[in-house]
Amino acid sequence: MEETVMDFPNPTENGFQVKFEKKEETLAIGIDLGTTYSCVALYRHGAYGNVEIIQNEQGNRITPSCVAFTSTERLVGEGAFNQIIRNPLNTIFDAKRLIGRRFSDTDVQNDMKHWPFQVVSGMYDKPIIVVEHMGKKKQFLAEEISSMVISKMKETAEIYIGRSVEKVVVTVPAYFNDAQRRTTKDAGTIAGLTVMRIINEPTAAAIAYGLLLKEREVVGKKTVFVFDFGGGTFDVSLLKIDSGTVEVKATGGDTHLGGEDINNILVNHFVKEFKRKYGKDLDKDSRGFRRMRSACEKAKRNLSFSTLAVIDIDSVQDGVDFEGKLSRALFEDLCMHLFEKCIDHVSRCLIDAKIKKNKVDEVVLVGGSTRIPKVQQLLREFFDGKELCCSLHPDEAVACGAAIQAAMLCGSSSDECPILKDFVVKDVTPLSLGISYNKGVMSVIVPRHTPIPTMKIQSYTIASDYQTSVSVPVYEGERSMVCDNNFLGNFILDGITPAFIHVTFNINEDGLLNVTAMDESCGFQAGMTFTNDSNSSQEEIDKMVGDAVIYRNQDMEKKKKADAKSGLATYAYKIRNTIRNVDIGCKLMSSERKAVEVAVLDVLKWSDVTSSVTTEAHIFDMEKTKLENIWNPIKAKLGL
Ligand code: ADP
Ligand code: MG
Repeated sequence: MEETVMDFPNPTENGFQVKFEKKEETLAIGIDLGTTYSCVALYRHGAYGNVEIIQNEQGNRITPSCVAFTSTERLVGEGAFNQIIRNPLNTIFDAKRLIGRRFSDTDVQNDMKHWPFQVVSGMYDKPIIVVEHMGKKKQFLAEEISSMVISKMKETAEIYIGRSVEKVVVTVPAYFNDAQRRTTKDAGTIAGLTVMRIINEPTAAAIAYGLLLKEREVVGKKTVFVFDFGGGTFDVSLLKIDSGTVEVKATGGDTHLGGEDINNILVNHFVKEFKRKYGKDLDKDSRGFRRMRSACEKAKRNLSFSTLAVIDIDSVQDGVDFEGKLSRALFEDLCMHLFEKCIDHVSRCLIDAKIKKNKVDEVVLVGGSTRIPKVQQLLREFFDGKELCCSLHPDEAVACGAAIQAAMLCGSSSDECPILKDFVVKDVTPLSLGISYNKGVMSVIVPRHTPIPTMKIQSYTIASDYQTSVSVPVYEGERSMVCDNNFLGNFILDGITPAFIHVTFNINEDGLLNVTAMDESCGFQAGMTFTNDSNSSQEEIDKMVGDAVIYRNQDMEKKKKADAKSGLATYAYKIRNTIRNVDIGCKLMSSERKAVEVAVLDVLKWSDVTSSVTTEAHIFDMEKTKLENIWNPIKAKLGL
């Protein structure tokens, strides 16, 4: 076998310099699509510090990544989260833990034990979420659920900005693999958005930090370590920041390590305690289990500020109340192995980046779980007592970075937004990519931590003289045998003559891989585009886009009906208050007054028992017209 590795640097390999063109302002948002919470931000042109975190309808700056299906409606975000205990089987959370994964994946199998909702295996081993919605069984892919969350964030932004938004930058954990990135991009497309770029969460946080340094006019190189410990994932990145150039040196982490795992440990502990005390099993009681989970999460959060938390749940099961105590010491003992795993990743990332820990200037904390005192203590100790940087908001930094990146990609004019001028971001691949060669040996074509975008070509000889077709199986991972790595896909190169084939790996700015192979001897064989069976086809995506539009229309219809009902009741109350006003009421004849009072009362009674889910908006409007016909002549007579 002969192997030559030719490295063709892409013209943009040294980072993507942003072009600024003077044109009408295009607004693009940044969405941090989290496992547990999502956050949306907008960068508007103007002076410094113009990233705005957009509040949702309840005034919160983060929104639960949660979708619920009921007998009458679909709820996304706060509305879904608030009814989770009543409707655990049809309330979906943690979709990010399913995205781009196979059903048989051990992580998926383990997570399923903690989820009250049903997940089954679909085509190509894809996980499918099954719910009951409006009396019917419905199936959804994880990317459809995520697209509903993205749509909600888009709407939140549109209400705030007052116009429609078409473009977005979405963030993913740095350690997300190709399939997870691709599927996240699909989720954005299904939500009706153009995903301008997928960027890594710790890189996004570093962009936000880089801008902060620029704003404060800090000059000189800084070595920054980003520690991102959220609800579902754990990411670390070592970066160099130098006057607006953000350059990733190494990344690491675990796509399955976060606050949700901590919750699982606490729930297991207290479910066992409940069983021991009362002989009752919560495992088969989805409502009781969910209430226990919510109580455990609350206790965990409290322990970040106090040393003892009480878990107090009325009537958990069959009228039995539960009271448990969780000291900070016990909490730390139960979860220590997870915290230590985090520190191991920190150490490995520094080794990968070939940087000694005393050379790190700032340790930036991102993600809700970094509020845990023990995590902060271990990290501080690891960095020999260094103070941790809390200048960025742990819940908002990622969305801020995504919004800054979105503004840059929109071509924000350097005149309008001088601070974004010369801002350059250089990221790397988190995992090695290669093909199976010589009975399952991983032949690496793009080593991990290669700066992206990149293109690398490797040549292989064909083993047999009579071979006319070759199969190219593509893998990602660090193990020497492909069976221990993650299989991405396979393609066949047909009609070749025995000789060399050139395999080209092309990775774009989103970190997405495109593989082509070419037979060099006759030179006629065109390259083939790599696709992955487990990813959705264009046809499937088109169908999901169509379904998303149907859901949006249903939501609009629902709102129209609810507004019509509310409009009728408000009108009726307004009339009643008017005639009850002493000055006005005395001018009415008693028969007139009675007629209006009766009509108003009838309408209010009717509206009270009439559902806005099953009754069309025009029926409420008709009732309003009838009331207007009675009231308007009297109103005119009174000169109101
Ligand atoms: P993601 O981006 O993965 O959704 P976030 O960064 O929003 O995650 O963090 C959410 C996680 O942080 C949840 O698991 C939540 O329980 C945890 N969390 C939030 N506040 C605290 C706190 N005060 N103490 C401990 N954990 C917290
Ligand atoms: Mg996050």
